Amino acid sequence: MKLIFLGPPGAGKGTQAERIQTAHGLVQLSTGDMLRAAVAAGTEVGKKAETLMAAGDLVPDEIVVGIIADRTEEADCVNGYILDGFPRNVAQAEALDKMLASRDAKLDAVIELGVDDSILLARIEGRAAETAGGARADDNAEALKKRLAVYHEQTAPLIGYYKTAGILKVVDGMKDMDAVTAEIEAALELKEKDNAS
Ligand code: AMP
Repeated sequence: MKLIFLGPPGAGKGTQAERIQTAHGLVQLSTGDMLRAAVAAGTEVGKKAETLMAAGDLVPDEIVVGIIADRTEEADCVNGYILDGFPRNVAQAEALDKMLASRDAKLDAVIELGVDDSILLARIEGRAAETAGGARADDNAEALKKRLAVYHEQTAPLIGYYKTAGILKVVDGMKDMDAVTAEIEAALELKEKDNAS
């Protein structure tokens, strides 16, 4: 199964992807995690990404598209994967469609975790306070607000993109964590039944 988890920063994509990957034998592929690893390792990609990430801006499409094209060919992806944080704009979504078509593959579902901005702002400010001076350079209130604005401008149009493709499943990301996991599981089970019929 090939899935995308779509949603604004702070919606719980990473947490939910971690839970679902274990249950379904999938691999969670977070471009944010991979880019942070590249920054930490001081690679060429990391050097290009560092300042943009710290400001809450997107890194160039060709970098993330290249990362995903390579990573999804590794052996552990054979049963499928959950894309967490990719694609982030329509150009990336189109590149992904092309990549999958060239491999005779397709996406099974896109899970949108819907959360109101007011809740996100409270969550991300809480997270910024908790991690002040901590692990992530972009976990400060200013960068997080920028990331939310970038989400609305560039990433939210993907909701319409995948709705049109007929593979969008909307989940209420404002429920508690277990209830959100249960909603995602229900959406995927329906998907598995679709495939079986
Ligand atoms: P995340 O951990 O998904 O919130 O990503 C953290 C940061 O990494 C983002 O704010 C971007 O700067 C960068 N990033 C992650 N994924 C992408 C992507 N698909 N396209 C562009 N930039 C990305």
